Amino acid sequence: MEHSLSPTMQNAAFSAMGLSARYLAFRVRRERLRDAILGAEAMGFGGLNLTIPLKEEALKVVVPDDNAAAMGAVNTVAFEEGEDEGGGRILGYNTDGQGAQLALEGAGVQVEGRRVLVIGAGGAAKAISRQLTLSGAKLSIANRDRGRAMDLAAAVGGSGFGLSDLTNLVPQAEVVINATSVGMRGGDPRLVDGQLFREGQMVFDIVYNRETELLQDAANAGAQVLDGVMMLVWQGALSIEIWTGRKAPVDVMEQAVREELRNR
Ligand code: NAP
Repeated sequence: MEHSLSPTMQNAAFSAMGLSARYLAFRVRRERLRDAILGAEAMGFGGLNLTIPLKEEALKVVVPDDNAAAMGAVNTVAFEEGEDEGGGRILGYNTDGQGAQLALEGAGVQVEGRRVLVIGAGGAAKAISRQLTLSGAKLSIANRDRGRAMDLAAAVGGSGFGLSDLTNLVPQAEVVINATSVGMRGGDPRLVDGQLFREGQMVFDIVYNRETELLQDAANAGAQVLDGVMMLVWQGALSIEIWTGRKAPVDVMEQAVREELRNR
Protein backbone atom coordinates (compact mmCIF):
# COMPACT_ATOMS: atom_id res chain seq x y z
CA MET A 1 0.00 0.00 0.00
CA GLU A 2 2.99 2.31 0.50
CA HIS A 3 3.31 2.00 -3.28
CA SER A 4 -0.29 2.99 -3.97
CA LEU A 5 -0.74 5.42 -6.84
CA SER A 6 -4.11 6.54 -5.52
CA PRO A 7 -2.93 9.45 -3.30
CA THR A 8 -1.09 11.05 -6.24
CA MET A 9 -4.02 10.45 -8.58
CA GLN A 10 -6.81 11.55 -6.25
CA ASN A 11 -4.96 14.60 -4.90
CA ALA A 12 -4.34 15.74 -8.48
CA ALA A 13 -8.08 15.45 -9.06
CA PHE A 14 -8.99 17.33 -5.86
CA SER A 15 -6.62 20.20 -6.78
CA ALA A 16 -8.01 20.45 -10.30
CA MET A 17 -11.55 20.45 -8.89
CA GLY A 18 -10.65 23.23 -6.45
CA LEU A 19 -11.55 21.05 -3.48
CA SER A 20 -9.82 21.67 -0.20
CA ALA A 21 -9.43 17.95 0.48
CA ARG A 22 -6.52 15.56 0.96
CA TYR A 23 -6.36 11.86 0.06
CA LEU A 24 -4.16 9.86 2.41
CA ALA A 25 -3.16 6.19 2.52
CA PHE A 26 -3.29 4.19 5.75
CA ARG A 27 -2.35 0.60 6.42
CA VAL A 28 -5.20 -1.03 8.35
CA ARG A 29 -5.25 -4.58 9.67
CA ARG A 30 -8.30 -6.59 8.71
CA GLU A 31 -9.37 -7.08 12.32
CA ARG A 32 -9.26 -3.31 12.90
CA LEU A 33 -11.24 -2.34 9.78
CA ARG A 34 -14.45 -1.68 11.69
CA ASP A 35 -12.61 0.65 14.10
CA ALA A 36 -10.94 2.41 11.17
CA ILE A 37 -14.19 2.97 9.25
CA LEU A 38 -16.11 4.14 12.33
CA GLY A 39 -13.16 6.35 13.31
CA ALA A 40 -13.04 7.93 9.86
CA GLU A 41 -16.76 8.61 10.05
CA ALA A 42 -16.42 10.11 13.53
CA MET A 43 -13.63 12.39 12.30
CA GLY A 44 -15.74 13.64 9.41
CA PHE A 45 -13.80 12.01 6.55
CA GLY A 46 -15.39 12.55 3.15
CA GLY A 47 -15.07 8.89 2.21
CA LEU A 48 -12.69 5.93 1.91
CA ASN A 49 -11.27 3.58 -0.68
CA LEU A 50 -10.36 0.03 0.31
CA THR A 51 -8.01 -2.42 -1.30
CA ILE A 52 -7.07 -6.07 -0.87
CA PRO A 53 -7.61 -7.72 1.63
CA LEU A 54 -10.16 -5.30 3.10
CA LYS A 55 -12.71 -5.23 0.28
CA GLU A 56 -14.59 -8.33 1.46
CA GLU A 57 -14.20 -7.58 5.16
CA ALA A 58 -15.94 -4.22 4.66
CA LEU A 59 -19.25 -5.98 4.02
CA LYS A 60 -19.42 -6.64 7.76
CA VAL A 61 -19.44 -2.89 8.40
CA VAL A 62 -21.11 -1.05 5.53
CA VAL A 63 -24.49 -1.14 3.78
CA PRO A 64 -23.53 -2.27 0.25
CA ASP A 65 -25.40 -1.22 -2.87
CA ASP A 66 -26.69 -4.07 -5.09
CA ASN A 67 -23.52 -4.11 -7.15
CA ALA A 68 -21.10 -4.34 -4.20
CA ALA A 69 -23.37 -6.92 -2.54
CA ALA A 70 -23.36 -9.07 -5.70
CA MET A 71 -19.58 -8.83 -5.96
CA GLY A 72 -19.06 -9.46 -2.27
CA ALA A 73 -16.50 -6.66 -2.26
CA VAL A 74 -16.43 -2.93 -1.51
CA ASN A 75 -13.77 -0.53 -2.80
CA THR A 76 -15.52 2.75 -1.97
CA VAL A 77 -17.09 3.81 1.32
CA ALA A 78 -19.29 6.90 1.66
CA PHE A 79 -20.71 8.45 4.80
CA GLU A 80 -24.32 9.55 4.59
CA GLU A 81 -25.27 12.78 6.34
CA GLY A 82 -27.15 11.93 9.56
CA GLU A 83 -30.19 13.73 10.85
CA ASP A 84 -28.69 13.82 14.31
CA GLU A 85 -25.17 13.78 15.69
CA GLY A 86 -25.11 10.01 15.48
CA GLY A 87 -24.40 10.22 11.74
CA GLY A 88 -26.13 8.45 8.86
CA ARG A 89 -25.56 5.13 7.15
CA ILE A 90 -22.15 3.97 6.03
CA LEU A 91 -22.53 2.97 2.39
CA GLY A 92 -20.37 0.61 0.31
CA TYR A 93 -19.84 0.60 -3.45
CA ASN A 94 -17.63 -1.20 -5.95
CA THR A 95 -16.39 0.87 -8.89
CA ASP A 96 -13.88 -1.63 -10.36
CA GLY A 97 -16.18 -3.22 -12.95
CA GLN A 98 -17.57 0.06 -14.21
CA GLY A 99 -14.04 1.47 -14.24
CA ALA A 100 -12.95 -1.33 -16.55
CA GLN A 101 -15.91 -0.80 -18.87
CA LEU A 102 -15.31 2.96 -19.06
CA ALA A 103 -11.64 2.31 -19.85
CA LEU A 104 -12.68 0.05 -22.74
CA GLU A 105 -15.24 2.57 -23.96
CA GLY A 106 -12.60 5.30 -23.81
CA ALA A 107 -10.54 3.16 -26.19
CA GLY A 108 -13.53 2.91 -28.53
CA VAL A 109 -14.76 -0.56 -27.51
CA GLN A 110 -18.43 -1.19 -26.75
CA VAL A 111 -18.84 -4.65 -25.21
CA GLU A 112 -22.50 -5.32 -26.00
CA GLY A 113 -22.75 -8.46 -28.14
CA ARG A 114 -18.94 -8.87 -28.28
CA ARG A 115 -17.08 -12.11 -27.51
CA VAL A 116 -15.04 -11.20 -24.43
CA LEU A 117 -12.46 -13.48 -22.80
CA VAL A 118 -11.56 -12.68 -19.19
CA ILE A 119 -8.45 -14.41 -17.89
CA GLY A 120 -8.57 -14.72 -14.09
CA ALA A 121 -11.24 -15.38 -11.50
CA GLY A 122 -10.06 -13.29 -8.53
CA GLY A 123 -11.59 -10.09 -7.19
CA ALA A 124 -10.89 -7.91 -10.22
CA ALA A 125 -12.05 -10.59 -12.67
CA LYS A 126 -15.27 -10.95 -10.72
CA ALA A 127 -16.03 -7.21 -10.85
CA ILE A 128 -15.20 -6.97 -14.55
CA SER A 129 -17.11 -10.13 -15.51
CA ARG A 130 -20.25 -9.06 -13.71
CA GLN A 131 -20.19 -5.59 -15.27
CA LEU A 132 -19.52 -6.84 -18.79
CA THR A 133 -22.25 -9.49 -18.73
CA LEU A 134 -24.68 -6.86 -17.41
CA SER A 135 -23.69 -4.79 -20.45
CA GLY A 136 -24.43 -7.65 -22.84
CA ALA A 137 -20.97 -9.14 -23.51
CA LYS A 138 -20.72 -12.84 -24.44
CA LEU A 139 -18.30 -13.94 -21.78
CA SER A 140 -15.72 -16.71 -21.43
CA ILE A 141 -13.64 -16.89 -18.26
CA ALA A 142 -10.38 -18.84 -18.09
CA ASN A 143 -8.43 -19.30 -14.88
CA ARG A 144 -5.48 -21.31 -13.55
CA ASP A 145 -7.89 -22.86 -11.05
CA ARG A 146 -10.57 -23.97 -13.52
CA GLY A 147 -13.13 -24.57 -10.77
CA ARG A 148 -13.01 -20.87 -9.78
CA ALA A 149 -13.60 -19.89 -13.42
CA MET A 150 -16.59 -22.25 -13.65
CA ASP A 151 -18.04 -20.91 -10.39
CA LEU A 152 -17.62 -17.31 -11.52
CA ALA A 153 -19.10 -18.06 -14.94
CA ALA A 154 -22.09 -19.73 -13.28
CA ALA A 155 -22.57 -16.70 -11.01
CA VAL A 156 -22.37 -13.96 -13.64
CA GLY A 157 -23.41 -15.79 -16.82
CA GLY A 158 -20.85 -17.16 -19.25
CA SER A 159 -18.62 -20.21 -19.66
CA GLY A 160 -15.68 -21.23 -17.47
CA PHE A 161 -12.39 -22.76 -18.67
CA GLY A 162 -8.85 -23.61 -17.61
CA LEU A 163 -5.70 -21.97 -18.98
CA SER A 164 -5.06 -24.88 -21.38
CA ASP A 165 -8.18 -23.76 -23.28
CA LEU A 166 -6.58 -20.40 -24.11
CA THR A 167 -5.22 -21.84 -27.35
CA ASN A 168 -8.77 -22.01 -28.68
CA LEU A 169 -10.29 -19.13 -26.76
CA VAL A 170 -7.81 -16.32 -27.52
CA PRO A 171 -8.07 -16.34 -31.34
CA GLN A 172 -11.89 -16.45 -31.15
CA ALA A 173 -12.23 -13.54 -28.74
CA GLU A 174 -12.87 -9.98 -29.91
CA VAL A 175 -11.76 -8.59 -26.55
CA VAL A 176 -9.18 -10.34 -24.33
CA ILE A 177 -8.76 -9.09 -20.75
CA ASN A 178 -5.95 -10.13 -18.44
CA ALA A 179 -7.44 -9.80 -14.96
CA THR A 180 -4.76 -11.87 -13.22
CA SER A 181 -1.73 -10.48 -11.41
CA VAL A 182 0.59 -12.11 -13.96
CA GLY A 183 2.78 -9.43 -15.54
CA MET A 184 3.05 -7.23 -12.46
CA ARG A 185 6.65 -8.33 -12.10
CA GLY A 186 9.17 -8.43 -14.93
CA GLY A 187 10.13 -12.07 -15.48
CA ASP A 188 6.64 -13.41 -14.76
CA PRO A 189 5.96 -16.36 -17.08
CA ARG A 190 3.79 -15.61 -20.12
CA LEU A 191 0.13 -16.44 -19.62
CA VAL A 192 -0.72 -16.46 -23.33
CA ASP A 193 1.32 -17.58 -26.34
CA GLY A 194 1.84 -14.27 -28.20
CA GLN A 195 1.16 -15.97 -31.55
CA LEU A 196 -2.50 -16.36 -30.59
CA PHE A 197 -3.24 -12.62 -30.75
CA ARG A 198 -4.42 -11.10 -34.01
CA GLU A 199 -5.36 -7.90 -35.77
CA GLY A 200 -8.84 -6.61 -35.05
CA GLN A 201 -8.69 -7.71 -31.42
CA MET A 202 -8.65 -5.51 -28.31
CA VAL A 203 -6.22 -6.79 -25.66
CA PHE A 204 -6.69 -5.13 -22.27
CA ASP A 205 -4.27 -5.87 -19.42
CA ILE A 206 -5.51 -4.47 -16.11
CA VAL A 207 -1.98 -4.58 -14.68
CA TYR A 208 -0.95 -0.92 -14.53
CA ASN A 209 2.45 -0.74 -12.86
CA ARG A 210 4.51 -1.66 -15.96
CA GLU A 211 4.21 -2.38 -19.65
CA THR A 212 3.53 -6.11 -19.71
CA GLU A 213 4.88 -8.76 -22.08
CA LEU A 214 1.26 -9.68 -22.84
CA LEU A 215 0.60 -6.20 -24.25
CA GLN A 216 3.91 -6.18 -26.13
CA ASP A 217 3.02 -9.52 -27.75
CA ALA A 218 -0.49 -8.32 -28.59
CA ALA A 219 0.81 -5.07 -30.12
CA ASN A 220 3.37 -7.02 -32.16
CA ALA A 221 0.53 -9.17 -33.52
CA GLY A 222 -1.33 -6.03 -34.64
CA ALA A 223 -3.98 -6.04 -31.91
CA GLN A 224 -5.21 -2.85 -30.27
CA VAL A 225 -3.88 -2.67 -26.68
CA LEU A 226 -4.97 -0.99 -23.46
CA ASP A 227 -3.08 -1.00 -20.17
CA GLY A 228 -4.59 -0.87 -16.67
CA VAL A 229 -4.03 2.84 -16.01
CA MET A 230 -7.40 4.06 -17.29
CA MET A 231 -9.26 1.42 -15.26
CA LEU A 232 -7.42 2.68 -12.18
CA VAL A 233 -8.30 6.25 -13.13
CA TRP A 234 -11.98 5.53 -13.80
CA GLN A 235 -12.54 3.50 -10.64
CA GLY A 236 -11.02 6.42 -8.71
CA ALA A 237 -13.03 8.99 -10.66
CA LEU A 238 -16.25 7.11 -9.88
CA SER A 239 -15.32 7.13 -6.18
CA ILE A 240 -14.91 10.91 -6.32
CA GLU A 241 -18.29 11.19 -8.02
CA ILE A 242 -19.87 9.16 -5.21
CA TRP A 243 -18.27 11.35 -2.53
CA THR A 244 -18.80 14.76 -4.14
CA GLY A 245 -21.56 14.34 -6.71
CA ARG A 246 -19.19 15.92 -9.24
CA LYS A 247 -17.40 14.55 -12.31
CA ALA A 248 -13.70 14.00 -11.75
CA PRO A 249 -11.04 15.23 -14.22
CA VAL A 250 -9.90 11.91 -15.70
CA ASP A 251 -7.28 13.49 -18.00
CA VAL A 252 -5.55 15.17 -15.05
CA MET A 253 -5.70 11.91 -13.10
CA GLU A 254 -4.22 9.88 -15.95
CA GLN A 255 -1.40 12.37 -16.37
CA ALA A 256 -0.62 12.22 -12.63
CA VAL A 257 -0.52 8.41 -12.64
CA ARG A 258 1.65 8.14 -15.75
CA GLU A 259 4.07 10.75 -14.42
CA GLU A 260 4.37 8.96 -11.08
CA LEU A 261 4.99 5.65 -12.89
CA ARG A 262 7.72 7.26 -15.02
CA ASN A 263 9.42 8.60 -11.89
CA ARG A 264 9.46 5.27 -10.06
P1 NAP B 1 -6.72 -11.83 -6.73
O1 NAP B 1 -8.12 -11.76 -6.23
O2 NAP B 1 -5.64 -12.28 -5.81
O3 NAP B 1 -6.73 -12.79 -8.04
C1 NAP B 1 -5.54 -13.16 -8.65
C2 NAP B 1 -5.83 -13.86 -9.98
O4 NAP B 1 -4.57 -14.08 -10.65
C3 NAP B 1 -6.48 -15.24 -9.84
O5 NAP B 1 -7.32 -15.46 -10.95
C4 NAP B 1 -5.26 -16.17 -9.88
O6 NAP B 1 -5.56 -17.47 -10.33
C5 NAP B 1 -4.42 -15.48 -10.92
N1 NAP B 1 -3.00 -15.80 -10.82
C6 NAP B 1 -2.11 -15.41 -9.86
N2 NAP B 1 -0.89 -15.90 -10.12
C7 NAP B 1 -1.00 -16.63 -11.28
C8 NAP B 1 -0.08 -17.39 -12.04
N3 NAP B 1 1.21 -17.49 -11.70
N4 NAP B 1 -0.54 -18.00 -13.16
C9 NAP B 1 -1.84 -17.91 -13.54
N5 NAP B 1 -2.76 -17.20 -12.84
C10 NAP B 1 -2.35 -16.57 -11.71
O7 NAP B 1 -6.25 -10.41 -7.29
P2 NAP B 1 -7.16 -9.24 -7.93
O8 NAP B 1 -7.59 -8.30 -6.89
O9 NAP B 1 -8.18 -9.86 -8.79
O10 NAP B 1 -6.06 -8.45 -8.82
C11 NAP B 1 -5.50 -9.03 -9.98
C12 NAP B 1 -4.64 -7.99 -10.70
O11 NAP B 1 -5.45 -6.91 -11.13
C13 NAP B 1 -3.54 -7.35 -9.86
O12 NAP B 1 -2.40 -7.23 -10.68
C14 NAP B 1 -4.07 -5.97 -9.54
O13 NAP B 1 -3.05 -5.00 -9.38
C15 NAP B 1 -4.86 -5.68 -10.80
N6 NAP B 1 -5.96 -4.71 -10.59
C16 NAP B 1 -5.96 -3.61 -11.38
C17 NAP B 1 -6.97 -2.68 -11.22
C18 NAP B 1 -6.97 -1.46 -12.07
O14 NAP B 1 -7.68 -0.50 -11.70
N7 NAP B 1 -6.24 -1.41 -13.16
C19 NAP B 1 -7.99 -2.88 -10.26
C20 NAP B 1 -7.97 -4.05 -9.48
C21 NAP B 1 -6.93 -4.97 -9.66
P3 NAP B 1 -6.02 -18.65 -9.27
O15 NAP B 1 -7.46 -18.40 -8.99
O16 NAP B 1 -5.78 -19.89 -10.03
O17 NAP B 1 -5.14 -18.49 -8.06
